[in-house]
Amino acid sequence: MPSALTELQPAHIWKHFAKILTIPHCSGNEKAFGDYVVSFARGLKLEARKDKVGNVLVVKPATPGHESAPGVVLQGHLDMVGEKNSDVAHDFAKDAIQAEIKGDWVQAKGTTLGADNGIGVAACLAVMEDPSLVHGPLEFLFTVDEETGLTGANRIQKGFLKGTRLINLDSEEEGTFTIGCAGGADSEIAYPLSRKKTASRNLYRLKLSGLRGGHSGLDINQGRGNAIKLLARMLREAQDAVPFELVSMEGGNKRNAIPREAWAVLACPPARQRSLAAALKRSFASISAEYRAVEADARYSLEPAGLVKDHGLVADCQRGLLDFILALPHGVIAMHPEIQGLVETSTNLAIIRTGKSQVDIICSTRSSVASALEAARLVLKAVTELAGARINPKYGYPGWRPNLQSPLLAKLKELYKTKFGQEAGVVAVHAGLECGIIGEKFPGMDMISFGPTMEHPHSPDERVNIASVGRFWGFLAATLAELG
Ligand SMILES: [Zn+2]
Repeated sequence: MPSALTELQPAHIWKHFAKILTIPHCSGNEKAFGDYVVSFARGLKLEARKDKVGNVLVVKPATPGHESAPGVVLQGHLDMVGEKNSDVAHDFAKDAIQAEIKGDWVQAKGTTLGADNGIGVAACLAVMEDPSLVHGPLEFLFTVDEETGLTGANRIQKGFLKGTRLINLDSEEEGTFTIGCAGGADSEIAYPLSRKKTASRNLYRLKLSGLRGGHSGLDINQGRGNAIKLLARMLREAQDAVPFELVSMEGGNKRNAIPREAWAVLACPPARQRSLAAALKRSFASISAEYRAVEADARYSLEPAGLVKDHGLVADCQRGLLDFILALPHGVIAMHPEIQGLVETSTNLAIIRTGKSQVDIICSTRSSVASALEAARLVLKAVTELAGARINPKYGYPGWRPNLQSPLLAKLKELYKTKFGQEAGVVAVHAGLECGIIGEKFPGMDMISFGPTMEHPHSPDERVNIASVGRFWGFLAATLAELG
């Protein structure tokens, strides 16, 4: 056990965190950690059980005299992201995380630390064991596989929880309450192709690259370019000036990332090649000027391509495809009317691939409002059907609609102000969180999320601020007393 951490205050939370570091628990490998939590709770004579997927539930009765208070659920996730620097020898399946104190922070030596969400779990273990706390009936919910698929939250059985107020301990900025998140869903689109009978000659590869990309939710309001949309625009603008034959388009590689690169194979007779190059150059010059502030590294290239197996598209099909890509929405659809800076609804044109007889496109759409998510997907469906293509809406995950009238939020804001003499921040995120899924399974659950300050989670630079863990613990204890 890394003894340096056990000397930190408050000792009971750091003691548990130091123990957690010794139990490997990356996503998919949470069993030993879940077993540890169950046996720790049972050692305290608390009721503890695991469900089929490995989620753990612990029940702690109320302090005598507080039995009638509505139940509170404290929630965190068991799994962590395993990332390491390339020069570090570390086996996340076997080795303990080597943590050290660096100034005001705790950090691991070249690996992720797992303070996300190990500190939250450590706080729960400390609450279980601390007889000095005052509280109503408590449940502790620890989920598996938050980081890679929200699987644990998704598989919780209805009726697993009794409490009506839930505090998620998986936030990363002290003094800020998270009160909402986005739901999301993908749409898979197939645009049918008609190809020419004769093979195309004089092939070129047009590539657009150097864009910043980013997370399709958290970065969607940054005004960054979408490589697929911009490539389609260059081709569409050039097509009006110089006829050419489009053979294929490719771009993007992740459903939850804004595409950074896209390319097309096209054919053009040698006599028109110079005019085509000039038309593409003009189009790119406009794009580059428009995006100067955000996409300074955007660039394109037009180079001869080797042989390809597919023929070029017939003219109507080519025009239809480019028009379709231009018409498909991408970006912010609506901002939240009350929470400043929060994107409520957005969509990302994520991936395009060309096959012999169809182009496949994937769009990922997000909203904190379920009906707005469906409305945005209906727009995708409408545009797709107008273009004569097919759409397959995939199952999504629910959002957590911010409730500015939440009694739990009002109580905690008041408590925070009393305790620290300043207002807490209130935010929602335009990405998926476990609370979205839990809220859907337990309708009426009043939820909030907070935690100590952490930086660079999911990377070997992950670190947690020591003093903020102390204040987080003090605030959590006061919250339980307030709600009890
Ligand atoms: Zn987390």
